[in-house]
Amino acid sequence: GRKFCVGGNWKMNGDQKSIAEICKVLSDAQLDPNTDVVIGCPAIYLMFARNLLPCSIGVAGQNAYKVAKGAFTGEISPAMLKDVGADWVILGHSERRAIFKESDELIAEKAEHALAEGLKVIACIGETLEEREAGKTNEVVARQMCAYAKKIRDWTNVVVAYEPVWAIGTGKTATPDQAQEVHAFLRQWLTENISKEVSNSLRIQYGGSVTAANAKELAKKPDIDGFLVGGASLKPEFVDIVNARK
Ligand code: 13P
Repeated sequence: GRKFCVGGNWKMNGDQKSIAEICKVLSDAQLDPNTDVVIGCPAIYLMFARNLLPCSIGVAGQNAYKVAKGAFTGEISPAMLKDVGADWVILGHSERRAIFKESDELIAEKAEHALAEGLKVIACIGETLEEREAGKTNEVVARQMCAYAKKIRDWTNVVVAYEPVWAIGTGKTATPDQAQEVHAFLRQWLTENISKEVSNSLRIQYGGSVTAANAKELAKKPDIDGFLVGGASLKPEFVDIVNARK
């Protein structure tokens, strides 16, 4: 079986005081030992959070550039994330795609470099409401997966996060059946385009308005292997989301 994996994506939220508080909640909590837990922290607080969290919790950057160093003002490299204690990076989030105009290709190049540098990657995908309503959900997620697949040779250190854009920060969670349908499509896509082995072993998280109230039902679906949680990851209820399968 695939190990359940829950990521918290704090996005551009928090300060030293509130981050210390949530780290304390996570340190004191009884977290399911059969679940991988990763916190996506603003880069500037990464070292701070790393020092406050137990070793059993991984820490992720929320973005990283595609080369190791150089004249790229404002960017951060995977090597730098590793240097301050991160073991993961979230790439291709819909906010990076929509607001910062990151292309499928750039995101895949970032993933390739981050993996080569030894980071684990949460590779995000997902369709917009417009795309879903046009019946293009499968086409869009397949295109995004294709871009990753052109650059990723070894999927061992990759987790895919399926996050329908219309469900992010809207309170409109995909129903367990809606999410499962896309996850099953992705599983099939992996079988046909990568390998049966990768299809069986690659973890696919669901993201988009996950809360303690809906996590348990979503977690029952056979192809949902965890969550990527935004808003609720800043609150104590994140503990219940981590423990959704406990
Ligand atoms: P919300 O959980 O706030 O909808 O955000 C989901 C998300 O974008 C996680 O990356």
